Amino acid sequence: MWCRNCNIELKDKKCLICGRDTVEDVPVEIDWCCNCQVPVLQEISQADKGICPRCGRKMKYMSADIRPVFLKRGCCLRYCLVAGLMNVLKSRCGL
Ligand SMILES: [Zn+2]
Ligand SMILES: [Zn+2]
Repeated sequence: MWCRNCNIELKDKKCLICGRDTVEDVPVEIDWCCNCQVPVLQEISQADKGICPRCGRKMKYMSADIRPVFLKRGCCLRYCLVAGLMNVLKSRCGL
């Protein structure tokens, strides 16, 4: 469980610190590896956040917690979104 208010991982449905309801999944963010040229979804709480799992280099931070966007628009648009995002990221990396 995850408290969006405190940005911490919890085992309870309510946050022990602020008392708010927690969500089931930890938020994810997208980082971009300019070396591998792939977007990488990462959990915000993971220890090696920002490091590319393929090449071990530091990645560019791109977008936080994109999951609600997917949920709202449906899974079928996920591919289009990722494909569009990749084009944007490629231009940002100067490729
Ligand atoms: Zn909290
Ligand atoms: Zn990489």
